[in-house]
Amino acid sequence: MSKVTHDENTVRFVCLGCGQRHAFNVCANHQEPVYRWNENSQSPTIYGTLQLDTDEYQCHLAIRAGVLQFLSYCTHRLAGHSEKMRDE
Ligand SMILES: [Zn+2]
Repeated sequence: MSKVTHDENTVRFVCLGCGQRHAFNVCANHQEPVYRWNENSQSPTIYGTLQLDTDEYQCHLAIRAGVLQFLSYCTHRLAGHSEKMRDE
């Protein structure tokens, strides 16, 4: 099962911290910032961390082998915690 949906420009996933769907850019021809990932939708790893603030929350996380690792200064309930990604 896939943990993310993606096309050549964008990867999307459900954030268990915000409860929303985040998207990040993986194509250099698209807008900044550009992230690198392992292109494995079943066990995604992102190189570096994602800062994905929304109107409601500050959300800064890493994705390692299908696990969301939230940094401690996120403003949602999973700050400082890790949680397995859900299947799409
Ligand atoms: Zn989030």
